[in-house]
Amino acid sequence: MPRTAYVNGRYVAHGGAHVHIEDRGFQFADGVYEVVSVVDGVFADEDGHLARLSRSLNELDLPWPMHPMSLRFVMREVARRNRVRNGLVYVQITRGEAPRDFRFPADPVPTLVVTCRSTKFSAPQQLEKGVSVITIPDIRWARRDIKSVALLPQVLGKQRAAEAGAFEAWQVDPDGTVTEGCSSNAWIVTQEGVLVTRAASTRILNGITRLSLLAEAEAAGIPFEERAFTVEEAYAAREALISSASTFCVPVTRIDGKPVGDGVPGPLGRRLRQAYLAHVGVADPVIAPMVTKL
Ligand code: PLP
Repeated sequence: MPRTAYVNGRYVAHGGAHVHIEDRGFQFADGVYEVVSVVDGVFADEDGHLARLSRSLNELDLPWPMHPMSLRFVMREVARRNRVRNGLVYVQITRGEAPRDFRFPADPVPTLVVTCRSTKFSAPQQLEKGVSVITIPDIRWARRDIKSVALLPQVLGKQRAAEAGAFEAWQVDPDGTVTEGCSSNAWIVTQEGVLVTRAASTRILNGITRLSLLAEAEAAGIPFEERAFTVEEAYAAREALISSASTFCVPVTRIDGKPVGDGVPGPLGRRLRQAYLAHVGVADPVIAPMVTKL
Protein backbone atom coordinates (compact mmCIF):
# COMPACT_ATOMS: atom_id res chain seq x y z
CA MET A 1 0.00 0.00 0.00
CA PRO A 2 1.47 3.42 -0.92
CA ARG A 3 2.33 5.53 2.09
CA THR A 4 1.00 9.03 2.66
CA ALA A 5 2.65 11.96 4.44
CA TYR A 6 1.26 15.32 5.50
CA VAL A 7 3.43 18.25 4.37
CA ASN A 8 2.40 21.87 4.92
CA GLY A 9 -1.32 21.47 4.47
CA ARG A 10 -1.42 18.61 1.97
CA TYR A 11 -1.58 14.83 2.12
CA VAL A 12 1.00 13.65 -0.39
CA ALA A 13 2.58 10.41 -1.55
CA HIS A 14 5.38 9.57 0.89
CA GLY A 15 7.78 8.77 -1.92
CA GLY A 16 7.52 12.25 -3.44
CA ALA A 17 7.13 14.23 -0.20
CA HIS A 18 9.70 17.00 0.19
CA VAL A 19 10.57 20.28 1.88
CA HIS A 20 12.58 23.11 0.32
CA ILE A 21 16.41 23.10 0.29
CA GLU A 22 16.32 26.38 2.21
CA ASP A 23 14.17 24.92 4.95
CA ARG A 24 15.79 25.91 8.24
CA GLY A 25 15.43 22.37 9.51
CA PHE A 26 17.79 21.25 6.72
CA GLN A 27 20.09 24.28 6.95
CA PHE A 28 20.39 24.69 10.72
CA ALA A 29 18.44 21.87 12.45
CA ASP A 30 16.18 24.77 13.50
CA GLY A 31 13.19 22.68 14.48
CA VAL A 32 11.60 20.30 16.94
CA TYR A 33 9.72 17.02 16.76
CA GLU A 34 7.58 14.53 18.66
CA VAL A 35 6.98 10.82 18.36
CA VAL A 36 3.69 9.31 19.54
CA SER A 37 3.03 5.60 19.53
CA VAL A 38 -0.27 4.24 18.28
CA VAL A 39 -1.11 1.05 20.11
CA ASP A 40 -4.15 -0.84 18.87
CA GLY A 41 -5.43 2.48 17.53
CA VAL A 42 -4.85 4.36 20.80
CA PHE A 43 -2.53 7.40 20.71
CA ALA A 44 -0.45 6.68 23.80
CA ASP A 45 0.21 9.63 26.13
CA GLU A 46 -0.82 12.04 23.37
CA ASP A 47 -1.60 14.89 25.78
CA GLY A 48 1.87 14.63 27.30
CA HIS A 49 3.58 14.59 23.91
CA LEU A 50 1.64 17.63 22.70
CA ALA A 51 2.39 19.47 25.94
CA ARG A 52 6.10 18.77 25.47
CA LEU A 53 5.85 19.86 21.82
CA SER A 54 4.32 23.11 22.97
CA ARG A 55 7.18 23.59 25.44
CA SER A 56 9.85 22.80 22.82
CA LEU A 57 8.28 25.29 20.38
CA ASN A 58 8.09 27.91 23.08
CA GLU A 59 11.71 27.44 24.14
CA LEU A 60 12.84 28.09 20.54
CA ASP A 61 10.36 30.89 19.92
CA LEU A 62 8.74 28.85 17.15
CA PRO A 63 5.06 29.46 16.38
CA TRP A 64 2.54 26.60 16.34
CA PRO A 65 1.98 25.75 12.67
CA MET A 66 -1.70 25.04 13.36
CA HIS A 67 -4.05 24.75 16.32
CA PRO A 68 -3.14 21.74 18.50
CA MET A 69 -6.65 20.30 18.01
CA SER A 70 -6.13 20.42 14.24
CA LEU A 71 -2.77 18.71 14.67
CA ARG A 72 -4.47 15.88 16.57
CA PHE A 73 -6.83 15.50 13.63
CA VAL A 74 -3.96 15.45 11.10
CA MET A 75 -2.09 12.82 13.15
CA ARG A 76 -5.19 10.60 13.10
CA GLU A 77 -5.76 11.20 9.42
CA VAL A 78 -2.15 10.28 8.58
CA ALA A 79 -2.49 7.09 10.66
CA ARG A 80 -5.82 6.29 8.97
CA ARG A 81 -4.54 6.89 5.45
CA ASN A 82 -1.55 4.64 6.16
CA ARG A 83 -3.80 2.03 7.83
CA VAL A 84 -1.65 2.07 10.97
CA ARG A 85 -3.16 0.51 14.10
CA ASN A 86 0.20 -0.21 15.71
CA GLY A 87 2.93 2.22 14.85
CA LEU A 88 4.62 5.55 15.35
CA VAL A 89 3.49 9.03 14.34
CA TYR A 90 6.26 11.60 13.77
CA VAL A 91 5.50 15.32 13.94
CA GLN A 92 8.30 17.64 12.78
CA ILE A 93 8.10 21.41 12.87
CA THR A 94 10.82 23.76 11.63
CA ARG A 95 11.13 27.53 11.35
CA GLY A 96 10.32 27.07 7.69
CA GLU A 97 11.85 28.15 4.43
CA ALA A 98 13.91 31.34 4.32
CA PRO A 99 17.06 32.69 2.61
CA ARG A 100 20.07 31.33 4.49
CA ASP A 101 20.74 33.59 7.46
CA PHE A 102 21.42 32.54 11.03
CA ARG A 103 19.03 35.15 12.42
CA PHE A 104 15.33 34.31 12.60
CA PRO A 105 13.35 35.33 9.49
CA ALA A 106 11.02 38.28 10.06
CA ASP A 107 7.78 36.40 9.33
CA PRO A 108 8.46 32.68 9.64
CA VAL A 109 5.94 30.27 8.17
CA PRO A 110 6.74 27.02 9.98
CA THR A 111 7.12 23.78 8.09
CA LEU A 112 4.93 20.95 9.42
CA VAL A 113 5.51 17.35 8.43
CA VAL A 114 3.53 14.43 9.87
CA THR A 115 4.42 10.86 8.95
CA CYS A 116 3.37 7.49 10.30
CA ARG A 117 4.65 3.97 9.97
CA SER A 118 3.69 0.59 11.35
CA THR A 119 6.00 -1.00 13.88
CA LYS A 120 6.03 -4.08 16.05
CA PHE A 121 7.53 -2.02 18.92
CA SER A 122 9.99 -4.53 20.43
CA ALA A 123 10.86 -8.04 19.32
CA PRO A 124 9.51 -10.62 21.82
CA GLN A 125 13.08 -11.74 22.38
CA GLN A 126 13.97 -8.27 23.69
CA LEU A 127 11.44 -8.68 26.46
CA GLU A 128 12.38 -12.29 27.21
CA LYS A 129 16.13 -11.78 27.25
CA GLY A 130 16.49 -8.03 27.70
CA VAL A 131 18.69 -5.78 25.59
CA SER A 132 22.28 -4.65 25.93
CA VAL A 133 23.58 -1.10 26.16
CA ILE A 134 27.02 0.43 25.89
CA THR A 135 28.14 3.63 27.57
CA ILE A 136 29.55 6.57 25.59
CA PRO A 137 30.50 10.18 26.43
CA ASP A 138 27.57 12.60 26.22
CA ILE A 139 28.69 15.11 23.58
CA ARG A 140 25.38 16.94 23.17
CA TRP A 141 24.49 20.60 23.73
CA ALA A 142 23.31 22.03 27.04
CA ARG A 143 19.55 22.13 26.24
CA ARG A 144 18.72 18.46 25.99
CA ASP A 145 15.28 19.18 27.48
CA ILE A 146 14.21 20.56 24.07
CA LYS A 147 13.20 17.82 21.63
CA SER A 148 15.25 19.34 18.83
CA VAL A 149 15.79 17.74 15.42
CA ALA A 150 19.57 18.26 15.94
CA LEU A 151 20.26 14.58 16.57
CA LEU A 152 23.78 14.08 15.24
CA PRO A 153 25.29 12.96 18.60
CA GLN A 154 22.48 10.41 18.91
CA VAL A 155 23.04 9.23 15.32
CA LEU A 156 26.71 8.63 16.13
CA GLY A 157 25.86 6.99 19.45
CA LYS A 158 23.27 4.64 17.96
CA GLN A 159 25.71 3.70 15.21
CA ARG A 160 28.38 2.88 17.81
CA ALA A 161 25.84 0.79 19.72
CA ALA A 162 24.86 -1.09 16.56
CA GLU A 163 28.50 -1.75 15.69
CA ALA A 164 29.00 -3.11 19.22
CA GLY A 165 25.94 -5.35 18.83
CA ALA A 166 24.03 -3.32 21.42
CA PHE A 167 20.50 -1.95 21.29
CA GLU A 168 21.15 1.44 22.85
CA ALA A 169 24.01 3.68 24.01
CA TRP A 170 23.78 5.34 27.42
CA GLN A 171 25.37 8.77 27.31
CA VAL A 172 27.59 9.71 30.23
CA ASP A 173 28.41 13.21 31.51
CA PRO A 174 32.02 14.13 32.39
CA ASP A 175 31.26 13.49 36.10
CA GLY A 176 30.60 9.81 35.34
CA THR A 177 26.81 9.97 35.67
CA VAL A 178 24.49 8.52 33.06
CA THR A 179 22.29 11.14 31.43
CA GLU A 180 20.06 8.98 29.21
CA GLY A 181 20.00 6.77 26.14
CA CYS A 182 20.25 8.20 22.62
CA SER A 183 16.49 7.79 22.19
CA SER A 184 15.33 6.65 25.62
CA ASN A 185 15.55 7.41 29.31
CA ALA A 186 17.77 5.26 31.53
CA TRP A 187 16.71 3.54 34.75
CA ILE A 188 18.21 1.20 37.32
CA VAL A 189 16.84 -0.74 40.28
CA THR A 190 19.29 -0.74 43.18
CA GLN A 191 20.10 -3.85 45.25
CA GLU A 192 17.70 -2.38 47.86
CA GLY A 193 14.89 -2.41 45.26
CA VAL A 194 14.75 1.35 44.69
CA LEU A 195 13.92 2.50 41.18
CA VAL A 196 16.27 5.30 40.07
CA THR A 197 16.15 7.60 37.07
CA ARG A 198 17.78 10.96 36.51
CA ALA A 199 15.74 14.01 37.59
CA ALA A 200 14.33 16.21 34.83
CA SER A 201 16.63 19.12 34.02
CA THR A 202 18.32 20.63 30.97
CA ARG A 203 20.68 17.60 31.02
CA ILE A 204 18.02 15.17 29.73
CA LEU A 205 14.87 14.99 27.67
CA ASN A 206 12.02 14.63 30.11
CA GLY A 207 10.51 11.51 28.56
CA ILE A 208 6.74 11.36 28.45
CA THR A 209 6.97 7.61 29.07
CA ARG A 210 9.36 8.37 31.95
CA LEU A 211 6.75 10.67 33.52
CA SER A 212 3.99 8.08 33.16
CA LEU A 213 6.21 5.34 34.60
CA LEU A 214 7.04 7.53 37.61
CA ALA A 215 3.34 8.21 38.16
CA GLU A 216 2.60 4.48 37.92
CA ALA A 217 5.46 3.67 40.35
CA GLU A 218 4.11 6.19 42.81
CA ALA A 219 0.56 4.83 42.52
CA ALA A 220 1.84 1.28 43.05
CA GLY A 221 3.92 2.26 46.09
CA ILE A 222 7.21 1.32 44.37
CA PRO A 223 10.05 3.26 46.02
CA PHE A 224 11.79 5.54 43.54
CA GLU A 225 14.37 8.31 43.45
CA GLU A 226 14.87 10.91 40.74
CA ARG A 227 18.62 11.43 40.83
CA ALA A 228 21.74 10.94 38.76
CA PHE A 229 23.44 7.53 38.97
CA THR A 230 26.95 6.59 37.90
CA VAL A 231 27.99 3.93 35.42
CA GLU A 232 29.53 2.00 38.36
CA GLU A 233 26.19 2.09 40.16
CA ALA A 234 24.50 0.78 37.02
CA TYR A 235 26.98 -2.12 36.78
CA ALA A 236 26.07 -3.04 40.37
CA ALA A 237 22.29 -2.66 39.89
CA ARG A 238 19.75 -5.43 40.37
CA GLU A 239 17.83 -4.42 37.23
CA ALA A 240 18.16 -1.82 34.50
CA LEU A 241 15.61 -0.47 32.01
CA ILE A 242 15.06 1.94 29.19
CA SER A 243 11.85 3.81 28.44
CA SER A 244 10.56 5.63 25.39
CA ALA A 245 7.42 6.08 23.32
CA SER A 246 8.63 3.46 20.84
CA THR A 247 9.71 0.79 23.35
CA PHE A 248 7.52 1.67 26.40
CA CYS A 249 9.77 -0.03 28.96
CA VAL A 250 12.35 -2.67 28.03
CA PRO A 251 14.73 -4.54 30.35
CA VAL A 252 18.47 -3.96 29.99
CA THR A 253 20.40 -7.09 30.89
CA ARG A 254 23.94 -6.14 29.81
CA ILE A 255 25.83 -2.87 30.22
CA ASP A 256 29.20 -2.66 28.44
CA GLY A 257 29.11 -6.45 28.15
CA LYS A 258 28.62 -6.99 31.91
CA PRO A 259 25.44 -8.76 33.06
CA VAL A 260 23.02 -6.70 35.11
CA GLY A 261 22.04 -8.63 38.26
CA ASP A 262 21.72 -12.27 37.24
CA GLY A 263 21.61 -11.28 33.55
CA VAL A 264 17.88 -11.85 32.98
CA PRO A 265 14.95 -9.40 33.02
CA GLY A 266 13.77 -8.67 36.53
CA PRO A 267 10.28 -8.42 38.09
CA LEU A 268 10.14 -4.67 38.61
CA GLY A 269 10.78 -3.90 34.94
CA ARG A 270 8.05 -6.34 33.94
CA ARG A 271 5.65 -4.81 36.43
CA LEU A 272 6.35 -1.30 35.19
CA ARG A 273 5.80 -2.27 31.58
CA GLN A 274 2.44 -3.83 32.46
CA ALA A 275 1.52 -0.76 34.49
CA TYR A 276 2.41 1.50 31.54
CA LEU A 277 0.26 -0.44 29.09
CA ALA A 278 -2.61 -0.52 31.58
CA HIS A 279 -2.21 3.26 31.88
CA VAL A 280 -2.50 3.57 28.06
CA GLY A 281 -5.45 1.19 28.23
CA VAL A 282 -4.20 -1.49 25.84
CA ALA A 283 -2.82 -5.01 25.86
CA ASP A 284 0.92 -5.40 25.37
CA PRO A 285 1.37 -5.42 21.56
CA VAL A 286 4.51 -7.56 21.93
CA ILE A 287 3.35 -10.04 24.55
CA ALA A 288 -0.37 -10.27 23.70
CA PRO A 289 0.13 -12.00 20.30
CA MET A 290 2.46 -14.53 21.97
CA VAL A 291 -0.15 -15.32 24.62
CA THR A 292 -2.90 -15.65 21.99
CA LYS A 293 -0.81 -18.16 20.04
CA LEU A 294 -0.36 -20.47 23.09
N1 PLP B 1 15.64 10.74 25.75
C1 PLP B 1 15.91 10.98 24.45
C2 PLP B 1 17.21 11.60 24.09
C3 PLP B 1 14.99 10.65 23.45
O1 PLP B 1 15.26 10.92 22.16
C4 PLP B 1 13.76 10.04 23.84
C5 PLP B 1 12.77 9.67 22.82
O2 PLP B 1 12.96 9.82 21.65
C6 PLP B 1 13.53 9.80 25.19
C7 PLP B 1 14.48 10.16 26.12
C8 PLP B 1 12.25 9.17 25.63
O3 PLP B 1 11.20 10.10 25.56
P1 PLP B 1 9.70 9.62 25.34
O4 PLP B 1 9.38 8.70 26.48
O5 PLP B 1 8.92 10.88 25.42
O6 PLP B 1 9.65 8.95 24.03
